[in-house]
Amino acid sequence: MSTVLVINSGSSSLKYQLIEMTNESVLASGLIERIGDRGAGSANAQGTRAHGADAQGDGSQGSSAQGAGSQTAGATGSSKHTVTSPGADPQSFTSERPIADHAAAFRVMIEAFETHGPSMKDALPVAIGHRVVHGGKRFFGPTVVTDLVKINIEDLADLAPLHNPASLEGINAAQAAFPSVPQVAVFDTAFHSTLAPAAYTYAIDAKLADKYRVRRYGFHGTSHKFVSEAAAEFLGQPLDALKTIVLHLGNGASACAVDGGRSVDTSMGLTPLEGLVMGTRSGDIDPAVLIHLHRKGGLSFDDLDELLNRKSGLLGLSGRGDMRDVVSAAQAGDEAARVALDVYLHRLKHYVGAYIAELGGVDAIVFTAGVGENSDVVRAGALAGLERLGIRVDDARNAAREHGARRISPDDAPVAVLVIPTNEELEIARQCLTVA
Ligand code: AMP
Repeated sequence: MSTVLVINSGSSSLKYQLIEMTNESVLASGLIERIGDRGAGSANAQGTRAHGADAQGDGSQGSSAQGAGSQTAGATGSSKHTVTSPGADPQSFTSERPIADHAAAFRVMIEAFETHGPSMKDALPVAIGHRVVHGGKRFFGPTVVTDLVKINIEDLADLAPLHNPASLEGINAAQAAFPSVPQVAVFDTAFHSTLAPAAYTYAIDAKLADKYRVRRYGFHGTSHKFVSEAAAEFLGQPLDALKTIVLHLGNGASACAVDGGRSVDTSMGLTPLEGLVMGTRSGDIDPAVLIHLHRKGGLSFDDLDELLNRKSGLLGLSGRGDMRDVVSAAQAGDEAARVALDVYLHRLKHYVGAYIAELGGVDAIVFTAGVGENSDVVRAGALAGLERLGIRVDDARNAAREHGARRISPDDAPVAVLVIPTNEELEIARQCLTVA
């Protein structure tokens, strides 16, 4: 057996997957939420959860809704552990008990492996891969964790204050639990390290930008890499000859232009706030709006942070942050939901057009993540009216409720429009094996 354990640590959560790499099958997976919860009655605990939500809003960690609003937390402060082990009976179970910190969460995870399989005696990982949100300008690929790497991840915490410290906690807990196993950091930003200065530079005072490390970094890189490579495989074409636009549309959303396997532009920036309209985030906005709201509306910087990250996007426009609710309300005639959907689609099309221009043409447009994989309405709406660019969506293919990689454009359309489920955990595991 050759297994890799993939860890995604949030400030109050630990998500894991144990993958058998010879056939890339998942042996066990789980999510531990509300780590360190002192009880839902504590205002402090709720605040921590809210800010502990994944900055990308991609649902890959315990969400703020689960953390802050859960009924099951009660006043006992129990952490919740959900495990799925395909080889066990039952395959899935949930338990609740207090879990003080990430080190304790690791012990609980290992206990679950022993109880429900596979035992670590048979499946000791050859590497442990950690998702780390921000690698700044320093990390371009999967990196074996050393003390110096940990110092660098910590130093980048000012660019990702909620996420890099959580990743470090996960790394420290993993090192304590598995001292002989190599730990590998896989950075969300790494895939975008190929951006040219023209694409990553903001047009502000260059010295100030340099001093405060202000530039486009981009996120969702692990997903964009996985999906663009899977698209080449699906099409049976060499990756280095392919121009692809990946639309990762989850709760957090970003677009990426990929030329020959290299990211050449992406819509998220210094932080995951820039770009597409998201569940609760505004995406692109005139920066002067913030100045205006501060001067005229008296909004503080914290208010603006809260507004743009948590009260904007689909939620701000329609009162609904979940695309399923927005689509059904829009179809039922709700005007605000219609506007929210229209703004979302308008922005998506804007990026598709921009990236076709940057790439000098496009061979494949790929939809992925929760919205991209499931919403035929969004896929059709985003690409409507682009026939003159060779982009067509086949209605029947688009509407078919299928899983797995598939083509939704007609076979004779010049541009292949694909739906490819993302798998960030598998991509992290694969990258681990290249360095561990
Ligand atoms: P993710 O962050 O990739 O887990 O995606 C979460 C988002 O996917 C949520 O906003 C969901 O509303 C959205 N989603 C899931 N299923 C559907 C669907 N059938 N139609 C539209 N959106 C969906």
